[in-house]
Amino acid sequence: MIPVWVQLAYLVAAVCFVLALKGLSSPRTARRGNQIGAVGALVACVVVFFEGELDHLVPILVAIAVGSLVGVLGAQRVQMTQMPQLVALFNGVGGGAAALVALLELDEFVDAGTGAGVEEFALVATAFTVVVGSVSFSGSLVTFAKLQELMTTRPVIFAGLPVAFGGGLVAALVLAVVVVLQPALWVGVVLALLGLVVGTLLVLPVGGADVPIVISLLNAFTGLAVAAGGYVLDNTVLLVGGTLVGAAGTFLTLLMARAMGRSVAHTLFGALKGGSTQGAGMASDRPVKSAGPADVAILLAYAQRVIIVPGYGLAVAQAQHTLRELVDVLGERGIDVDYAIHPVAGRMPGHMNVLLAEAQVPYEQLKEMNDINGEFKHTDVVLVVGANDVVNPGARTIPSAPIYGMPILDVDQAEQVVFMKRSMRPGFAGIENELLFDPRTTLLFGDAKDTMGKLLNAVKAL
Ligand code: NDP
Repeated sequence: MIPVWVQLAYLVAAVCFVLALKGLSSPRTARRGNQIGAVGALVACVVVFFEGELDHLVPILVAIAVGSLVGVLGAQRVQMTQMPQLVALFNGVGGGAAALVALLELDEFVDAGTGAGVEEFALVATAFTVVVGSVSFSGSLVTFAKLQELMTTRPVIFAGLPVAFGGGLVAALVLAVVVVLQPALWVGVVLALLGLVVGTLLVLPVGGADVPIVISLLNAFTGLAVAAGGYVLDNTVLLVGGTLVGAAGTFLTLLMARAMGRSVAHTLFGALKGGSTQGAGMASDRPVKSAGPADVAILLAYAQRVIIVPGYGLAVAQAQHTLRELVDVLGERGIDVDYAIHPVAGRMPGHMNVLLAEAQVPYEQLKEMNDINGEFKHTDVVLVVGANDVVNPGARTIPSAPIYGMPILDVDQAEQVVFMKRSMRPGFAGIENELLFDPRTTLLFGDAKDTMGKLLNAVKAL
């Protein structure tokens, strides 16, 4: 019987998790939400030590110390642009841990014997945790490798992949049934190995631009695996926490899929149909119009309406502070300036909001894609800072492009477009952007931070 005070402490932790999610739903309250969630997790972890007698206390403490050290160092050192990889890695470790715990529980069930009151549903939950946790572990490691560019970011497809994937799924289902009817540790271990294979095969065909959706989906998987593990261990806080992660991950997956204009099924299996594997090719040597900071400063200073489109390159260059200064100076000259935020600009959901909040950009100036898209046709100059895919009209017109169907910012409707980038290299999706060759487009080449500084000085000097 679990003591009442422990149940109450778990309730406090669960309430913290709910408040954390609520806080994370707005940039203003996100930091506080994160802190509340961390307090809830701390309460849940500490309570376990006082709940009852724990075996293997020393190895547990050592594991916590090692895990905390790796977590703190990893989180401190990671660049903002590498955050999705970190999330993928942490998520995978969570799924793997849930699968291992479930295997240990299975071992205990086997030792106790099925006649010893082990409910069938607990065995179903155990099998579920083993397979879904393993899928999440291996799938997350592959997404990590893709985002870290340890392997190609393009879809990896080979003959027989769909058959291997389908066969793996059926075999996992059969083994899960065996775990429930004839529990044995070795069957659980084979099930876990099969889960690792299925997770790998699930993520390999996903192209780089769709990887964030898959990270979110695997996050939901981990949540569900942890929730089922909570049932197996009779641990309320794991059950609640896992369910919240599962639900939040599922919503995020659906929202991101919608933002990229495709279904989750298309994201996962689209490449197998031969659809979205290739782009239109790499940088060609067609002529483009380029200019220096002084020319672009004139364009900006004599405009009435300017929209800034920030992208991944802004984060890489860390030019957000100088950009905010530039926008302030333009504002002082009476120019109407806003930022257009695409839902998947950068390398993680909300990346641009975080980046610009860090530079103290007022939230009122950040306009969501759907709210600002109608305004581009009345805009004198659009300044695209280190963005590419999110303004690429190929998403509307090239069915073979990996971003085909993704709603984009309608920058091509503006009177003038200035791209700040270093070269003619394509963006993350690896496809050429026709807008770079448009007669209304001017390219301002160079590292965004360096060029932004020069542009700021040139505007001030006018
Ligand atoms: P892109 O990756 O399409 O383009 C980034 C641009 O920045 C490139 O054109 C690059 O050109 C330029 N750049 C890079 N470094 C610098 C620098 N130091 N100074 C100036 N320019 C620089 O970015 P977008 O934000 O437009 O699109 C995001 C892409 O990432 C989408 O395809 C999206 O699907 C994908 N994605 C999004 C995630 C999310 O959740 N937000 C997660 C993972 C992927 P050059 O090299 O010539 O400088």
